[in-house]
Amino acid sequence: MASLREQFATNVLTVTRFRELMRRMRANRPNDDLELIRKAYEFSQKYHAGQTRASGEPYLAHPLEVALVLAEMKMDPVAIAAGLLHDSVEDTSVTIVDIRKEFGEQVAHIVEGVTKISAIDFATREEQQAENLRKMMLAMVDDIRVVLIKLADRLHNMRTLEHLSPDRREKIAQETLDIYAPIAHRLGMGKIRGELEDLGFRYVDPIGYEQVGEAVEARRKPGEAFLARVEEVLRDKLGEAGITAKVESRIKRLYSVHKKLLRQRIAVEQVYDLYAMRIITHSVQDCYAVLGIIHNIWRPVPGRIKDFIAMPRPNLYQSLHTSVISEEGQPFEVQIRTEEMHKMAEEGIAAHWKYKDGPVSALDEQRLSWLRQVVEWQRDVSDPNEFLSTLKIDLYPEEVYTFTPKGKVVVLARDSTPIDFAYTIHTEVGHTCVGAKVNGRMVPLRFKLHSGDIVEIITQPGHKPSRDWLGIVKSSRARNKIKHWLNVHQRERAIEIGRKLIEKEARKYRIALKEVKEEDLQRVASDYGLGRPDDLMAGIGYGKFAARQILAKLIPSSSGQVPDADSNASEGFVSVVRRVFGGDHGANAIRVKGHGDLLVYRAKCCNPIRGENIIGYVTRGKGVAVHSQNCSNVTNLLYEPERKIDVEWATDDGTPSSYPVKLTVYCDDRFGMLKQITAVISDSRTNIRNVEARTANGRANIDVILDIADLQHLENIIGGVRKIPGVHDVQRLKKI
Ligand code: MN
Repeated sequence: MASLREQFATNVLTVTRFRELMRRMRANRPNDDLELIRKAYEFSQKYHAGQTRASGEPYLAHPLEVALVLAEMKMDPVAIAAGLLHDSVEDTSVTIVDIRKEFGEQVAHIVEGVTKISAIDFATREEQQAENLRKMMLAMVDDIRVVLIKLADRLHNMRTLEHLSPDRREKIAQETLDIYAPIAHRLGMGKIRGELEDLGFRYVDPIGYEQVGEAVEARRKPGEAFLARVEEVLRDKLGEAGITAKVESRIKRLYSVHKKLLRQRIAVEQVYDLYAMRIITHSVQDCYAVLGIIHNIWRPVPGRIKDFIAMPRPNLYQSLHTSVISEEGQPFEVQIRTEEMHKMAEEGIAAHWKYKDGPVSALDEQRLSWLRQVVEWQRDVSDPNEFLSTLKIDLYPEEVYTFTPKGKVVVLARDSTPIDFAYTIHTEVGHTCVGAKVNGRMVPLRFKLHSGDIVEIITQPGHKPSRDWLGIVKSSRARNKIKHWLNVHQRERAIEIGRKLIEKEARKYRIALKEVKEEDLQRVASDYGLGRPDDLMAGIGYGKFAARQILAKLIPSSSGQVPDADSNASEGFVSVVRRVFGGDHGANAIRVKGHGDLLVYRAKCCNPIRGENIIGYVTRGKGVAVHSQNCSNVTNLLYEPERKIDVEWATDDGTPSSYPVKLTVYCDDRFGMLKQITAVISDSRTNIRNVEARTANGRANIDVILDIADLQHLENIIGGVRKIPGVHDVQRLKKI
């Protein structure tokens, strides 16, 4: 129990702050009934009585300061009351039911939302985290006051962070930089974001903070003198032009400087916008007029003029930016905006609470739609790490502005690709995207888009997303749409592949899978702890079980009749089996990693030969096609990564083997050329199957089909032929 003296001290302190709160509220909202606030204060005082903060202050000081921040945002009495009560459910015996009874549904709802968010530990990697974050997002969408109170709460906690232990400090500060500052940013609340970032920086990286602080501090005095001179010149010129505007100057915030130094690997002197002027005008026309005046006085730095009035940032920030260089060679930034734009830049979504309560404006609606989208996109994500990382990307995009061929602006995160662009247009456009033209030129799908690019997406009906895209895309929208699609379709394909594999296996014992009874399948599935036969097939398809192993369980007798019983059968799936290729070209074995006895054949499109890097692709009903890894079909056509399997050439067992390979020799049409070529080939003891020559204009193209043992053999021959005088080039034709 606190002593009387302590209680008295507490009262004096908090009563003073409470009076300040009421004074501000009366000034902001002269017509509002403030009784709810008084009641909430008294309630909070009663339940937090005797509690203290780490600083030793009475706990009540905290909800009071939070309410004061909210009052500064010009929030309504409901929000202020909820701010005063925000910790009461978490930290005292009060329940939400009590709050509802005393303060009504709205306040209770908001307090409940804040309590939920407070329970989230962003630093832990628990399964539940995704769900928690989603809850927070939903709470934000539900009533934006929840997140505004949470931001005010975090701001006060950051302002008093020094009282906590160093590791608690760092954790909270990191969370502030990762989650809360970006949320403030996305909601357009520049002022709070700035303070959260600088405080976060100070505790996450105290040494860096000090270094940047010193460097900036050393430039503060001369900077201020410089800005005062600039301001004077500017005021004169604006006066001459008859433009009334507010002129402010500022020195860039430490965290912004720090990020810039890191990102661009430059020194403080090279930060173009360390010093900045801000000009606040009455109209948009004046903004552009001022820009003209400025470029008349000082030389603009090329590429640094940014028109966020015509193209607002995703958080609806609007302003004109330019960097210019003074007569003395000092670069500085100028930001030009209207009064309204300025208010929006500083207060963001909170700006509107000044004028009205309740439902938000169209602009706020646009900000909230971002939140709704995040919630929607995250719905299919179950991995918490994934959720957090995509959330972080979405919270801090550095935008590029791209265009559709019709001139519509598409804002994307930095390093976004045509696939991101496609998914931003429409999910179906994303799924069926096969290529893209940027500024009229075909580009690969992993192409990084830049501001100003005109992007045309090429789609193909029926085309499907690829798992590989996950490594390429930048936006969480694209990522989640792709993941969702894969999750839904992957299982279907796994079942299909599983069925194919087991059919193939069964055929070897001359058993038709049709003869296997459904109840036997069900029994084996149950043996493996699976619910349905489909799960068993999927398991085979995913590579969890070997087809042979499952078949042996289905038809116990089958294991005895194996025609070429594999001694490795006990290894199950990893057993390595050799297949003989059809045709008359000898025994050419390819190992299939991780899969049982598969029918393997060389793909006709690229005819890989021993020594080449190869990849297997499970076809529908024809076994595994083995392609050369650089076969264009592998990269362009075979989109279903689940069907790709690793294969490798079996160790050469000494059996002579060869593959037909077709070469085209481009050479001069001269006497003895053909003879020389065939001589080089025969000298390397290579069988020539066929030769065809075509000639025109003194040139000849000679096609030869050779029996080639491996890649080395092929390279030797190509090298030899190339040395013949008059031979210009030798090309291997993938197709024979
Ligand atoms: Mn709190």
